[in-house]
Order: sequence, then C-alpha cells, then structure tokens
Amino acid sequence: MVTQSKTKKSGEDVSEAAQMFQAIADRGEVGILVLDKDDRIEFVNKMFSNITGYQQESLVGKTFTDFLIGENKEVFESLRKACVTSTDKSRQVVEIKTTTSSQAVTEMCCAHYEMHSGDKKTFVYLRDISVQQKLTKELKESEKRYRELFEHIDQGISISTREGKFIDCNPAILKILGYESKEEFLKLDISKDLYVTPQDRKEFQRLIEKDGYVKNYEVAFKKKNGETIPILLTTQAIKNEKGEVIGYQGLNIDISERIRMEQELREKHGFLTNLLESSADCIIVSDMRGRVIFFNKAAARLTGYPTEEVIGKFHVSKFYSLEMAREIMKKLRGDEYGDRGKLENYMLTVSGKHNEEIPVSLSASIVYEGQKELASLGIFTDLREKIKIEKELQDAQVRLLQSEKMASLGSLAAGVAHEINNPLGGILIYASLLMEDFEASKDPRVQDLQKIVEEATRCKEIVKSLLEFGRQTDSRFEPVDINKAILDGLFFLEKQVLFHDIKIIKRQDQTLPFIEGDANQIKQVFMNMMVNAAEAMSEGGGAFTITTGITSDRSSIFISFQDEGTGIPTEIQSKIFDPFFTTKGVGKGTGLGLSTSYGIIQSHHGNIDVTSSSGKGTTFTIYLPIPMETGR
Ligand code: ADP
Ligand code: MG
Repeated sequence: MVTQSKTKKSGEDVSEAAQMFQAIADRGEVGILVLDKDDRIEFVNKMFSNITGYQQESLVGKTFTDFLIGENKEVFESLRKACVTSTDKSRQVVEIKTTTSSQAVTEMCCAHYEMHSGDKKTFVYLRDISVQQKLTKELKESEKRYRELFEHIDQGISISTREGKFIDCNPAILKILGYESKEEFLKLDISKDLYVTPQDRKEFQRLIEKDGYVKNYEVAFKKKNGETIPILLTTQAIKNEKGEVIGYQGLNIDISERIRMEQELREKHGFLTNLLESSADCIIVSDMRGRVIFFNKAAARLTGYPTEEVIGKFHVSKFYSLEMAREIMKKLRGDEYGDRGKLENYMLTVSGKHNEEIPVSLSASIVYEGQKELASLGIFTDLREKIKIEKELQDAQVRLLQSEKMASLGSLAAGVAHEINNPLGGILIYASLLMEDFEASKDPRVQDLQKIVEEATRCKEIVKSLLEFGRQTDSRFEPVDINKAILDGLFFLEKQVLFHDIKIIKRQDQTLPFIEGDANQIKQVFMNMMVNAAEAMSEGGGAFTITTGITSDRSSIFISFQDEGTGIPTEIQSKIFDPFFTTKGVGKGTGLGLSTSYGIIQSHHGNIDVTSSSGKGTTFTIYLPIPMETGR
C-alpha cells in the first residue's frame, strides 16, 4: 500500500514536473524540441510552433528531419553528431519548412541526453533569425549601393585623418587631381602635397573643428603634374564615441570649368558694356517705371550729367517731359513707327544739365523677356552739328547767289560807270573853265558853278568806286602784312571827329602769316569796316574791337571788327552787301562800301561773315586763305 501510495504520489510529482517544464519551455524565446533516437518529435514548445506555423499538438510524433530540405539536413546531422562527442555548443544557420512557401531561418544548436533507461534523446534549440537576417541583407545591399555611388560618382570624395593623410578616396578624385592609383594618393601629405597655400588647410581645420562641418570652401589644390586646380570643399567632421574629431569626410568638387565660364561671362559682359560705353551715340536704358539703369559716356557728354549721378537715381522725365515719355512709350508699343516695340528717327529735344535744349533724333526699342517688357533702350543722336552744317550750307548757297548777283551787277555798274566817266570828265572841264571866266568877271553865279564842280567831283568818286567794284581797276598781288594794313587804316581814321567817342581795342595775333593780296584794296576794305562801325556808334560811342587770328583748321586768317553800335535789323541783313544799299541819308551814304569790300575779298578768295543783334552791335569777320607755302 505504502509503495502503492508512494508510487501514486511519485507519479503525480512526475506529471507536475512535466507540466512545470512545459510551462517554462513555452515561455522561452527559443524553439525547443526533444527528439527520440529516430528523430521523432517527443516534445515541442510553443515557440517552435510559432516559427513553423504548425499546431503544437500536431507536431508531436512527426519526424523532425522532414522539416529540413536539402543541405539543411546535413547541417543538422553534423550538429547532432558533434554534440554527442563534445559539450561544445556550436551553432549553425538552418532553414526549417513552414506552413507558408518560405522557410524560417534559424540559428540551431543541439544537445545529447542519455536516460537511465539507456534511451538517447536529442534536444534541439532554434532561434528565429529571419528578421535579423533580412536586416543584415538589407544593410549589405545599402552598403553596396553606397559603395557604388562612392565609386562611380564624378565628384571627388575623400576621407582623411586629422593629421593629414587620406584613408579612402574614390576614383573621381584621382581623376580630378591626375593620380593613377589610390595607393600613391593615400601616401600624400595633404597640407604639403595638395594645398597650394598650406595656410588654407589650417583655416579649413579651424572652421571644421569649430562647427563640425565646412560648406563650399574654395581652395587651390596641386595636381600631380604640378598644375593648380580650384576645388570646392564640403566636408563633415568624423568623431569618435567621445565626440572628439578624428578625421574628415566630404566632397571635393572641381570648379575650374565653372570659374572659366564665369570668367568668360565676365569678359563677354565687359565686352558688351565696353561696346555700349564707347558708342558715339548716347545710349540710355530705363526700367519699365522709367528709372535709368544704363547711361553711357556719350549720354553723360550730351546731357552734362555724370553717369554715377544718373544711374538708379534719375527718372527719364529729367531729360524730357512726362508727356513726351508717355508719347514715346505709346509709339513704341504701336506699330506705326516701325515694328512693335521699335521706334526710329523720332525727333525731340532733350534738356541738359544747364537747361539747354538739345535737338536729337531718337531710335528706341523695348527689351522683352518672352512676353514681359523688361526695359526700354534709347539711342539718341545729337543733331546740333548736323543742323549747324545745314545752316552753313544754306549760308553758302545764299552767298553764291549773292556773288552771282554781284557779278552781273558789277559788270553792269562797270559798263555804266565807263559810259558816265567821259561825259562827266567833260562836264568837269567845261564847268571849271566857265568858273575861271566867271571868277575873272566877278559874276555872282560863280558859287553855283562851284557847286556844279563839287557835285561832279563827287560823281567822279562814285564812278571810281563803281569801277573798282566791277574790278575794272588793276590790282597787284604781293605778300600783305594784315596787322600792318589794319594799323595803317586806323592811323588815318583815329584822328577823325567820327572816332572821338570810340574806344579802339586791338587784339592782334603777332604770329599771323602774310597773305597774298593787294595791300591797297585790303586797306580800303578795312577802312570801310571801320567807318561803318564808327557811323553805327555815332550816337552813343562804345568799344570797337579789332581781332586777328588763325582759324582752328589753320587754313585761313581772320580779322573781326566788333562794334557796339546800332546793329543791323535781321530783315535787311541780306541786303547790306548789295550795291547802293544804304540806310544813311542822301549825301551821307553811297551804299557802295560793303559791296566793294565784298568784291575785293572775293577776288582774294576770302569770305565775309556778319553777325548782328539789333541795338547791341555788329561783328564783321573777314577770312583770307593762308598761302600753301606759309601756312600749316
Ligand atoms: P553806306 O555805309 O554807304 O551806307 P555800306 O555798303 O558801307 O554803305 O553799308 C550798307 C549798309 O549796311 C549801311 O547803310 C548800314 O545800314 C549797314 N551797315 C554796314 N555796316 C554796319 C555796322 N557796322 N553797323 C550797323 N549797320 C551797318
Ligand atoms: Mg559805308
């Protein structure tokens, strides 16, 4: 009984122990199996059923090796064999069949156990490493991808020590710096062999130690062949667990192409600016609000405003009215003055710094970017010179007409004078004879005869000037000292009553060359000028300035007679050179002074100009050519 009860008791103990064992085994993270000598499963825990997906109960009695496919079976056999002979717990990766199509990857180890009864059991422990394996695989793949990127990217990547040696680098950096092998590159002393300026390396290290990184740091590196190459560094510090910097890794970008392009662009830009700057026409560019953004040298010259005073500060309305600006924009946008966005040869006046109105011709265009209006560009051509030349041309035409008129009048006058000269001579002789008789007989009519003789003498004078005007008198050309001719003329006139209230100012150029001419005729011209000036100043007096000099092109000399007299009203300016034109009373003016002078200067291949403003005075300027051998 005792035995019986004892047996029963121990039976209960056994099953309790088994239950406890089951509970312990089920809570573990490891799959546990107990196999009999034929590899049949005697015991299985919950984890193994989790790994394989099979029901725990359905597994008992199954043959374990059926879960192993291919070489996994051999791995298991070797593990089991090993654990019989040694206690060493070696592990192997073994794949186990599951309820799904994929196998579970496990790390397996085995243990051998012999019962009192002599039964041999195999304990199998399995740890599921599917997830871990997957992660490892992924890690390897990503490492591979990074390595590929590192190897194939065309930017240089390098890893270096703080002390200045490379640990690793990619092929791109070797190519950029012209090295054939990584081995020789890794031997370089970075600051000595690579940096053109070793100081740059020190500064780079200072920055990276301070911030932990350096971004877009420009340095010059030496290539293997000694050439210099600009490099842009973007580098990160590598730190150990203690946070100390032990090295650097980063990008080394070759920027020589970029710098070359920048330089080219700068040169191109410089060239274009230069082109615009040196244009003889004035170029003004403004943004669409009218603010001036470009203003070349010619524009500064035309308007008188210096470039730096204008750019970014002036509105175009400084140069012409707002209405005009609007008008121009309207015309630019329309198409009646050239294509849309263009305007050609538009006449307007621009006001300069000193309020002068400058006539210009404008060619303008709108600068577009796609459909958007960016700026307007105007090219202004100064028309002053053109207008001046046009006026000169007109004057020359007038003079030509005048000289034709004079030539015909001259021959007419000369003919008439010639005809009159002889009868006049007769009148004078007979009147003189008569007068002698009347004087002898004390006839009171002798005074009338005297008058006849006087008037006839005056007529003869006029006839003489007429003949001179018609160049009927002889002339002798020889070198003439113009300054002396002026003084000779003045010598006679200065003492005359006519000149009493007049201040004579002489501004004679003493270097004046001689000209070819008839000194007497020229003297006569000068005296005509002097007498006319004095007569014009007879009311109020004033200054009379005689200036001589050489023209800027050195082709002629000039003599100007400037008075402060009455001036010549514009409407009669075109007539003063006509023979017999006079504004002076009968008996006072003959109207032959200027026409005779004109004729004389013409025969000397010269010119007479007159400028006058009513009430202020008149300036006559005579130009006489300098003979070739003395001039220039
Ligand atoms: P005259 O002196 O006999 O009138 P001229 O031929 O010398 O004849 O001059 C013609 C006219 O030109 C003058 O009558 C006068 O109206 C005008 N004139 C000439 N010189 C001057 C001058 N210096 N200032 C003002 N008017 C002048
Ligand atoms: Mg006169």
